[in-house]
Amino acid sequence: MKSNWTVQDSLDHYLISRWGQPFFSINSHGHLECRPKRGILGSIDLKELIDDLKRRGIKTPVLIRFNDILAAQVESLASCFQKSIDEYNYHGSYRTVMPIKVNQQRHVVEQLVDRGATYYLGLEAGSKPELLVAMALLKKDRGVLVCNGYKDEDYIETALRAERLGIKTLLVLDRFAELQKIIDVAKRLNIKPRIGIRAKLAARGKGRWVESSGDRSKFGLTMREIMQSVESLRKENMLTSLNLLHFHIGSQITAIRSIKNAIREAAHLYCGLRAIGCLDLDHIDVGGGLAIDYDGSQTNFHSSMNYSVQEYANDVVSVLQDICDELEQPHPHIISESGRALVAHHAALIFDVLGANELGIKEAHINRPGEEDHSIIHTMYDAYEAVSLKNAQECFNDAVTAKDEGIALFSHGVIDLESRARIDEIFWATCKKILKVIQTAAYVPEDLGNLNKMLSDTYYCNFSVFQSMPDAWAVGHLFPVVPIHRLNEEPTQEAILADLTCDSDGKIDQFIDLRDVKRTLRLHKLRDQEPYYLGAFLVGAYQETLGDLHNLFGDTNAVHVSLGDDGRYRLEHVVVGDTISEVLSYVEYDRIDLVRRVRDSAELAVREGEMTLEQSAELMKRYEEGLSGYTYLV
Ligand code: PLP
Repeated sequence: MKSNWTVQDSLDHYLISRWGQPFFSINSHGHLECRPKRGILGSIDLKELIDDLKRRGIKTPVLIRFNDILAAQVESLASCFQKSIDEYNYHGSYRTVMPIKVNQQRHVVEQLVDRGATYYLGLEAGSKPELLVAMALLKKDRGVLVCNGYKDEDYIETALRAERLGIKTLLVLDRFAELQKIIDVAKRLNIKPRIGIRAKLAARGKGRWVESSGDRSKFGLTMREIMQSVESLRKENMLTSLNLLHFHIGSQITAIRSIKNAIREAAHLYCGLRAIGCLDLDHIDVGGGLAIDYDGSQTNFHSSMNYSVQEYANDVVSVLQDICDELEQPHPHIISESGRALVAHHAALIFDVLGANELGIKEAHINRPGEEDHSIIHTMYDAYEAVSLKNAQECFNDAVTAKDEGIALFSHGVIDLESRARIDEIFWATCKKILKVIQTAAYVPEDLGNLNKMLSDTYYCNFSVFQSMPDAWAVGHLFPVVPIHRLNEEPTQEAILADLTCDSDGKIDQFIDLRDVKRTLRLHKLRDQEPYYLGAFLVGAYQETLGDLHNLFGDTNAVHVSLGDDGRYRLEHVVVGDTISEVLSYVEYDRIDLVRRVRDSAELAVREGEMTLEQSAELMKRYEEGLSGYTYLV
């Protein structure tokens, strides 16, 4: 215990100064605050915001979206590229394209398009619904529309017609078979297509999404197919339609070297294509992949990145420039489809802790066994008493063996329930004692390294991992989780988080760390009648749409906030989370039918004298209110 714990200790402990820069910090009240506008003073106190939302009737869990962060990220990416372009005297331009799939929420995409207009922010669509969204949001002569994904004639026709709205629309061949369709539809509509080719590069990404690249990747054309496409276009007299070379080597590319390798290969391909006559090929789309440093470690670990955004921009620009200069080809205009980098920071999920399950064995409770006690209790007690730094491992082994024997004796009816309970109690007390003595040890054997987790508390939290952080469950993705208040107090409880679902996977038991992955998170002891709020940060990319309705926990409430000129927060939009009847309707239950069925049962109960009329009225009222209620605990 550190009696003089400070805000700086919390900044260090939760690594906020690393993953949270420049947006998140702690204020003098010990509350987490967001400074959403880069370089401009003014902050939003998250605890105050949650208290205010509660007074407005907006309950946790709630997703807070910081509109200004969206604007800041668009600006930062564009300025990094502009800086590189100016510094290297690169002749092409740079444009960001936001892949809609990364966060399809209307208010998010609208914000990005509005705030990104100065930088000609475009949109990337990977399906027909996304294409229709992009056509509605993009304006004439502003950002480009890049069309990826599998395409049928319908998709192609709609995309080509977008050209008539003045939207520069690039149809990217993800499969060779799409080329003939594009040619046919373009001829029928008499619209000159702008065609891109997605290349299957040999260069591979690094990180969890490595399968998006390489020979076996799902999308893209092989070198032979690219050559065939050029020939087909030439035959059709349409080679001037080939305007873009595209690649995407996966999301969250953790190592800059992978990015450089891919750019190098793509640059040679671009120059090679121009050398065989594709003279209207003047754009390279470097796809997504720009990573987020979720754990702040600045390494090539899967939740981090070993480069900065400026280094990314410098490498894209300089590698393209060097190769084009060497091969005497013009510098292409650069497009990047950086989704995660634009939106991850803008959203934080705030949820309340409902209670904690502490192992809570106090050493004072462990009494020396008496003569009447079974010898196994004595063995367990001897291990407990003998614990010291020198023999920690030996005592642990003895305790584990005694526990196993105790269980066997209980199962054979040799010892009673009381004895079994004492064995458990002394076992956990022994583990706690061992944990205490090894705190200062220079080396801790692997078995004992897990004691922290074995002895951790479980904090039950009002959210669903499957709905709000599906990647934490599906791919072991790490998101920073931090209390949003009490950060001027020392956290004393090692804990893991359990969500509301009745699925044993519905938990978070891996946390960010500078070296590796932490198995527990240090939190504050809960106080009676006082809410305790945690925030999961950097959840703005991919999580919402991939989230599912496990146990029918629906979309959480979401609020969009921005920082006003007066330095106070402004609530821009409130998107009310799913009600219970809404989530039930997704699985085909009809509210009216459910109410009718319950009413029939209530009438029967009244007829049979099991319920009074007043009780049936109360029950129906509660049932109907329940259907209109929030799916989370209130
Ligand atoms: N472009 C394409 C073709 C993608 O498939 C993806 C996602 O994997 C992206 C862009 C966005 O990638 P990121 O969010 O890593 O920038």
